[in-house]
Amino acid sequence: MSMYTRESFQAQSAQAAAIGRALGSFTAVVAVGLGVGQLLVIRAVESRLAKGKALPFEVALFLAYIVVIGFLGWQRDRQVTNARPRCPQCKQSFKGVPDGLVMRTGKCPNCGAQVILEVS
Ligand SMILES: [Zn+2]
Repeated sequence: MSMYTRESFQAQSAQAAAIGRALGSFTAVVAVGLGVGQLLVIRAVESRLAKGKALPFEVALFLAYIVVIGFLGWQRDRQVTNARPRCPQCKQSFKGVPDGLVMRTGKCPNCGAQVILEVS
């Protein structure tokens, strides 16, 4: 892997941000859809379940919901991490590192290697 130019660094950073936004919107839509679906299923099933069995069913459904949303959030985090620019030296993703910091110093905040090609 080679060094970034300022342009390629910013382009890749913007692309990672776009992926994060898209997956965030997707997760929000799924969360609302499954949330409403959950209420409908509970309403439909509740009357047919014996008293006392309804609550464990609702708890199980809610836990499954949390697992799905948690998984989507984890996936999004992974995809953004993979899409973010990465240090050519130590291969660390610049996730959570402000772009401005790398742009100003041109160096990896983790290992100090030159990341951005200085054109002067
Ligand atoms: Zn590094």
